[in-house]
Amino acid sequence: MNPFLASVRATIEEVADELKLTEDAKDMLLEPKKSVEVTFSVRMDDGNYRVFKGWRVQHNDALGPHKGGIRFAPQVDREEVTALATTMSIKNAALALPYGGAKGGVLVSPWELSTRELEGVARGYVDALFKEIGPNYDVPAPDVNTNAMVIGWMMDEYSKLAQHTVTASFTGKPLVLGGTQLREAATGYGGYVILREMLKRMKWEKEPNDTRVVVQGFGNVGSTIAEILDEEGYKVIAVSDSAGGLYLESGLDIKSIKQAQEKAGTIKHNLCYPKSLSETDVTCEHIPHESFLEIETDILIPAAIESVLTKDNAPNIKASIVLEMANGGLDQDGEDVLLERGLTIIPDVIANGGGVASSYLEWVENREGRKWEVNESKEELDKLMVRALDEALKHQTDGRSFRQAAYVSAMLRMTEAMQARGWIAKQARS
Ligand code: NAD
Repeated sequence: MNPFLASVRATIEEVADELKLTEDAKDMLLEPKKSVEVTFSVRMDDGNYRVFKGWRVQHNDALGPHKGGIRFAPQVDREEVTALATTMSIKNAALALPYGGAKGGVLVSPWELSTRELEGVARGYVDALFKEIGPNYDVPAPDVNTNAMVIGWMMDEYSKLAQHTVTASFTGKPLVLGGTQLREAATGYGGYVILREMLKRMKWEKEPNDTRVVVQGFGNVGSTIAEILDEEGYKVIAVSDSAGGLYLESGLDIKSIKQAQEKAGTIKHNLCYPKSLSETDVTCEHIPHESFLEIETDILIPAAIESVLTKDNAPNIKASIVLEMANGGLDQDGEDVLLERGLTIIPDVIANGGGVASSYLEWVENREGRKWEVNESKEELDKLMVRALDEALKHQTDGRSFRQAAYVSAMLRMTEAMQARGWIAKQARS
């Protein structure tokens, strides 16, 4: 089984047993409600047709319509999409959003396609799944390698098939189609809010400029949170992308790295970007993937891909706090080792909930036919994130990890909704 799916299922089973949930509740929380595999063809630029495979997994909609992104990736499969859909149910419930969880994926290397071909894949996926999605049933959003442009095409395709414009059918749309200014930065921003509030609750003693941060992944999430932390005075000492890492003990200037990346497409690893303007003659160290996460730091932020913290590297991690921005950044064994060693782990379902929280605000705006000011949305997002953090912390009793506590918060809410709907028995197992 995919290690990410195995970890998610193991946490659900542990928590369900601890809460003495009935077998029917446990099964409903473990198994997706619906899992659809589709095959569709796209006419490529050379005139030939190419066949693509895609999935939409709808995990549980006891709390409201399914919600979750669609990723375009060369390795995605049904198990990965199932793990992500399950995580979305937990995340949405932990955030107390009126949503269930879902996720979608298409097996494709989007960088090998022209823009026209990419549009064909986006529209083909919606054609194949039109009957399975919609503003009141399942509302997709962007995920890895999909963005506002892709979602704009998808919303248009859905609207054509529905024969009227349905802005609330997708979130993460371009602004002009009812998207929100907040969406692009929302996941990184939400992660920052969680970290800031968690440091307060931990009574973290170091000043921000003494607090070192290492960020793996410099895409939407990693670059946003690195930039916010840099602006807020934290010392971001290392960042990485798929080509490797850049390290400077005295701190990096994230805005300059981002600007250079926007021009070049990747981090310019041959340059150095010291935060301190007086450091004109410094050299950044290049750190390979294998040792990047082992850099000595206060806060470690995996914000790239799944299962990067495992039992193999967990003994060598030299951080106090791990903020898991990547979905499934830690596997179960890796987390066990880190917890044993006393690290604080802020799990993905709390840390990266900012994206879906801002999607919720966009969906509400679209349904109400009105637009909020950015500051109003930001305040609302802050409230949603802090409430989820405090509710999870409230459940963090002795012997429960923060991840288990977040799962408790989510699973109690989902179980109550399933009981209220009459899907499962009301009484607890004796
Ligand atoms: P992205 O595609 O924009 O960026 C991914 C980054 O990771 C890129 O910089 C890439 O070069 C880098 N990368 C890939 N492999 C790497 C490796 N082995 N080592 C170091 N860097 C590597 O993706 P994103 O939207 O920033 O998402 C990152 C993670 O956050 C994913 O796990 C995603 O599921 C999760 N997430 C994203 C959102 C969102 O709103 N974008 C919301 C919730 C969770």
